[in-house]
Amino acid sequence: MKTEFSLAQLADPDIKEADKILRACVHCGFCTATCPTYVLLGDELDSPRGRIYLIKEMLEQDQQPTAEVVKHIDRCLSCLACMTTCPASVNYMHLVDQARVRVEKKYSRPLSDRLIRSLLAFVLPRPGVFRAGMIAARLAKPFVGLLPGGAAPNHPPSVFDRLRAMLALAPITLPEQGPSAGTVFPAQGQKRGRVALLQGCAQQVLGPHINQSAIRLLTRLGIEVVLVAEEQCCGSLTHHMGKDDDALAHAKANIDVWVKEADRNGLDAVLVTTSGCGTTIKDYGYLLREDPAYAAKAARVSKLALDITEYIDKLDVQWPTQRSDIVVAYHSACSLQHGQKITQLPKELLFKSGFVVKDVPESHLCCGSAGTYNILQPDIARRLRERKIANIASVEPDIISAGNIGCMVQIGSIRNNDGAPIPVVHTVELLDWMTGGPKPARAEITKGPRTGGS
Ligand code: SF4
Ligand code: SF4
Repeated sequence: MKTEFSLAQLADPDIKEADKILRACVHCGFCTATCPTYVLLGDELDSPRGRIYLIKEMLEQDQQPTAEVVKHIDRCLSCLACMTTCPASVNYMHLVDQARVRVEKKYSRPLSDRLIRSLLAFVLPRPGVFRAGMIAARLAKPFVGLLPGGAAPNHPPSVFDRLRAMLALAPITLPEQGPSAGTVFPAQGQKRGRVALLQGCAQQVLGPHINQSAIRLLTRLGIEVVLVAEEQCCGSLTHHMGKDDDALAHAKANIDVWVKEADRNGLDAVLVTTSGCGTTIKDYGYLLREDPAYAAKAARVSKLALDITEYIDKLDVQWPTQRSDIVVAYHSACSLQHGQKITQLPKELLFKSGFVVKDVPESHLCCGSAGTYNILQPDIARRLRERKIANIASVEPDIISAGNIGCMVQIGSIRNNDGAPIPVVHTVELLDWMTGGPKPARAEITKGPRTGGS
């Protein structure tokens, strides 16, 4: 794609980067076929190619973002399916991230939009506040029917649509809190390694059992696990809202505590069980590349960051010799498959654990979770969820495995043809179960590892 930035514009490192990305695009449009918003809405401006044109014009002309441009950028899930499809390796992620920052800085959103975004940006990264918010949402849940009617499909969501979506996502009960930051879990037997485990923000409130499974599995395998004190939100949530000052402050705080821990006590990796966070931490090196005080440290942390499945794969695991007849539908989170290019590994590990693993049709399409997307764009998110659960149900699983809490909450409760619930659990919970840990609490299936035969 031909670009026409001036030399003065190209002196800005972000514009220089945008220019490089835009020039790589050859307009072929292959990306449109796998873009969830284009598949649903059929509008070129809701496709990656359409958005790339809009962003190009906005940056080249140094324009204020218009309401129309903001609408189409806001509808992008940042699922990155387009990057997997693109034959020219266009880095859409860095382009749309930059566009979101510009929108945040230069566009005046309606008051209700600003309020709800500020509320999410404040509450979600703070587990204590988030927990209180979930308790309040649970109390408000019975009154959801009193909210005024929703916006028509394909129209901008109203504040009531967003409140309704928020309440629908709030769980009826909250699990007990997990272990505190600063705790060190010693390796069982001979120590083979030492890792930090990202505590996550929403995950430690909604699914503390996920990291508890990871800790059990890792320590059984001889790995010491530390929950680093003073660790913060990874910044992913606010980064995807274009609030980069906030996101980078979180990133720097984490880099400081992880580098300190690595220098003092040694770390083989910073492990992540929430793939949305993993994609952002792996990008810290890029995000802070122009910051002389943090560029090297950020690059070091990005190299240390691994998804839990990447690390487990390197360990000497004694996989069960017997197979189970439990059918696992593997839901491939976008941040894992498109953001981190981890596609086969979780399925291979599940297979080695003895499960019957099934791919979900249209697995490249997002479930609609996408950080805060299911609250900010509830209609599109609902339609994507319905499509996803129909695809999952079509493989008739006993259980669903995913590597991201956002997807697990979004998929929520699915029932099989007999009306029985199909539990959604994290991949690491299943790996832990099959290698000696307890059965995941929500796995109400009666099947289990076979005790004989193969
Ligand atoms: S990130 Fe996802 S929603 Fe956004 S343009 Fe790419 S494929 Fe479409
Ligand atoms: S597939 Fe890649 S090169 Fe083709 S239009 Fe999309 S972003 Fe551009």
